[in-house]
Amino acid sequence: MSLYLGIDFGTSGARATVIDKETCTQFEGRYPFDMLKAFDLAHDWKNALFTLLEGIPRELRQEVRAIAINGTSSTVLLCDSEGQPVDTPLLYNDARGSVVMNELKAVAPPNHTVLSATSSLTKLLWMSQLPSFTEATYFLHQADWLAFLLHGQLGISDYHNALKLGYDVEKLEYPDWLKQLQIPVRLPKVIAPGTPIVELRADIADKLGFRRDCLVCAGTTDSIAAFLASDATLPGEAVTSLGSTLVLKLLSRTRVDDARYGIYSHRLGDLWLTGGASNTGGAVLKQFFTTEELESLSQEIDGLKASQLDYYPLLKPGERFPMNDPNLSPRLEPRPDTQVEFLHGLLESIARIEARGYELLQDLGADKLTRVYTAGGGAGNRVWRIIRGRLLQVPVECSVNAEAAFGTALLAMRGISSFGKP
Ligand code: ADP
Repeated sequence: MSLYLGIDFGTSGARATVIDKETCTQFEGRYPFDMLKAFDLAHDWKNALFTLLEGIPRELRQEVRAIAINGTSSTVLLCDSEGQPVDTPLLYNDARGSVVMNELKAVAPPNHTVLSATSSLTKLLWMSQLPSFTEATYFLHQADWLAFLLHGQLGISDYHNALKLGYDVEKLEYPDWLKQLQIPVRLPKVIAPGTPIVELRADIADKLGFRRDCLVCAGTTDSIAAFLASDATLPGEAVTSLGSTLVLKLLSRTRVDDARYGIYSHRLGDLWLTGGASNTGGAVLKQFFTTEELESLSQEIDGLKASQLDYYPLLKPGERFPMNDPNLSPRLEPRPDTQVEFLHGLLESIARIEARGYELLQDLGADKLTRVYTAGGGAGNRVWRIIRGRLLQVPVECSVNAEAAFGTALLAMRGISSFGKP
């Protein structure tokens, strides 16, 4: 048997998924982060990683041919020449770097993805002013460092993690403006996600009962891993995540970037994964309904009939995609007589925003939408799928698999070369 292991370090926990050649899941393990003591974060990650590996039944471990790891995007750390962290890692949402933004604005191209308080490059620049920086040799992303623990080679990353470090994913090089910053630390060598790096360290393989020839591959980020888990592989296929917010990702042959709307593209082999995130989504539904009410009231809605209620459901003012208006007010009036009508209006309005989002991506040059897979808490809502299908005018499906760890296991198995090939 040939098995493939994907490990997901997400925001709330770590997971391991082992799949076979037919992409059937053979094992799933979880490590919730409420088990972390948050005293020594990097040590806790290491512990989580090895606890997950040890949790895989021994007979399966012996069959694992390749491993890949995804981390949260822009979670980063500095380490010394031996790979020991020199300070606490910075998490994806750490915005302390906002104080160096002006310095970065002076060198980075206008509207570049690195120009955000939480980008990897902003974090690196901020960390370069800390006393601990003198001990640093390598700058790594979470996924890079965790993979290093398994394969032992320092300074390797993938072009998904490296996008927000400023790496030019089109030319596959660090741009001159970034080199001009002359930050005295080694930036990772960047390779395609899923590329085999080298075999698992022999001491780890022997101790845990993995094969000596088990390969460790370059990883990816958590949200791309969740995309990889869906069945979308062709230009025009998309994944909508109906979670607390509404996130759209559309596979395209053309790269689309527009900072006004927070739209950017990740490289996926020869294709581009274009996308944007709206502030509307399930968090607004949760303000008015319990999960049980969402299920029971939805069943009373006729999804084939259009609701005339035209809302813009937001928790607070401000929207970026598909409308760039930092002052846009939530619109949740008029309130109809019944809860069923109100929910119908909300689901219909969020679906309209989704349709407008895909229209905008296509207007900016992305491939024509052909099919939408759905992930997130709202994915199971059948009536919403009917409403969305009516507005999107393409088949709308529920992703069979939406777990990032599953997507990363697929990455370990087949890399990204299968994208764009029917
Ligand atoms: P997060 O983005 O926080 O990870 P999830 O993917 O877990 O979110 O999705 C949670 C959201 O799913 C909630 O905000 C909730 O409103 C929404 N949700 C849950 N059940 C339903 C349902 N039956 N219909 C529509 N939305 C739902």
